[in-house]
Amino acid sequence: MTAAPHYQMYINGSWHDTGESIGVYSPATGELVATVAHGDLSTVDTAVAAARAAHDIGVWRGMSPQRRADFLDAIADNLASRAGELGKLQVHENGATIRGAQAFLIGYSISHLRYFAQLARDYAFQSSGPLAEAPTLAAGLIVKDPIGVCAGIIPWNFPLLLAVWKLGPALAAGNTVVLKPDDQTPLTLLELARAADEVGLPAGVLNVVTGPGPVVGARLAEHRDVRKIAFTGSTEVGRAVMTAAADTVKRVTLELGGKGANIVLDDADLDLAVDGTLFGFLLMSGQACESGTRLLVPESLRDEFVRRLVARARTLTVGDPMDPTTDLGPLISAEGRARVEKYIALGQEEGCTIAFQGAIPSDPALAEGHWVGPTILTGATNHMRVAREEIFGPVLVVLTYRDDDEAVAIANDSEYGLSAGIWSADAARALALARRLESGTVWINDWHMINAMYPFGGVKQSGLGRELGPDALDEYTEPKFIHLDLTNDRSKRAYPVVISAAP
Ligand code: NAD
Repeated sequence: MTAAPHYQMYINGSWHDTGESIGVYSPATGELVATVAHGDLSTVDTAVAAARAAHDIGVWRGMSPQRRADFLDAIADNLASRAGELGKLQVHENGATIRGAQAFLIGYSISHLRYFAQLARDYAFQSSGPLAEAPTLAAGLIVKDPIGVCAGIIPWNFPLLLAVWKLGPALAAGNTVVLKPDDQTPLTLLELARAADEVGLPAGVLNVVTGPGPVVGARLAEHRDVRKIAFTGSTEVGRAVMTAAADTVKRVTLELGGKGANIVLDDADLDLAVDGTLFGFLLMSGQACESGTRLLVPESLRDEFVRRLVARARTLTVGDPMDPTTDLGPLISAEGRARVEKYIALGQEEGCTIAFQGAIPSDPALAEGHWVGPTILTGATNHMRVAREEIFGPVLVVLTYRDDDEAVAIANDSEYGLSAGIWSADAARALALARRLESGTVWINDWHMINAMYPFGGVKQSGLGRELGPDALDEYTEPKFIHLDLTNDRSKRAYPVVISAAP
């Protein structure tokens, strides 16, 4: 067996070690996939200093948006040329199925990076307008400046994609960046740094620091030279990041947890809705923030819908994520599995019934993997903890409702508001309901359709700000108003209101 490769950190255009390393293990087999450098407070400070210096000398913000866009496209091309290899790496580090990794995790990363390149070309970095209230001939200019050093803290479930959602708009807008991946999944982000290095991105513009979240991430959140922090992860850590960022009044974007309500209306196409419900809660084995984990069905349809759901769930395979026929891979870690199992037990204590639990693999090669079969809990009510808290695993909680008003009330009775869905044959009825849901995204007759051209983010405790969409660069720029007066006639100015004419 070949030794696991070692990855260094990427700071100021070169690769760095610290003498200590962290192991990255396959969630499916427990094998050591690679080791990475173990960063600490001083490595963060070095990376931020490099990003600050690159910002100050203007090597990136002084470049035309067109040229910055060309760099983003070149990074996307580089990733695309290695898409197969990156897909496998993603499977090894976080247990995504190879089908999911190639289509969503890597495929979207590349296409979304290209979207940000196009935004850089189209964005109004400078605009001008009339000054209706000025008594003289004057012009108003709006300049959208980069903010400075932007930090991105990334979770383990979609590492490359969620890094692109921060890196893309930050670089398009002319900022410099420090990224911190989760310790469990640093490899695809270090490959992103390699791509940036290979296309000749100027030193210091992108830095990737690896290390424990409470050390490296916390330092980025409090660092006085970091002007913006974009965090994706749990609501609990998001609160800590926001608190740490308050001291230096950083710009903050938070993409946090969810408990998506999936409402099946009585006129829905049930075959579509059954498959869509499974897709909604099982992508990435349920470890996706936007999952549809609360199923709301009309009381009268519940037995029929659950019967069809269970029959279809039985056909799914849980197993080796590298096998293209596998539907569900493992959970990220032993802790992740224990947490999900605890919630399944809690659901039973609260009065739920396990209507279905899928088998886990028996292959000895997968004995060290962190497996939980797809699980459907019926008999739930919305006040139970299993219906209120994010489980982050392949667990669906089935609730019932009597009419559309009650469905909306149950859906909105949540601390979260990231995603929701409606299944109906009546578009007008579904749209009217969508308007009433407290959620950043509502999918009608589908799920997980995240689109780079549309904003993504949460309301309530699911987050703050939006990533993606035509306004994505607004989150990474500071608008500056410049008033330019073109007349020398003092009497026409506003001065006399305060300063009388010279004697
Ligand atoms: P997490 O909050 O434990 O970790 C996220 C990141 O924060 C990691 O890089 C981690 O190292 C870092 N971190 C940990 N402690 C920190 C601290 N004290 N200060 C700064 N950084 C710290 O989340 P996770 O378990 O990796 O991811 C799962 C969570 O992420 C779920 O709640 C999920 O819903 C959420 N998520 C949200 C979105 C979204 O777009 N809304 C997308 C993906 C995941």
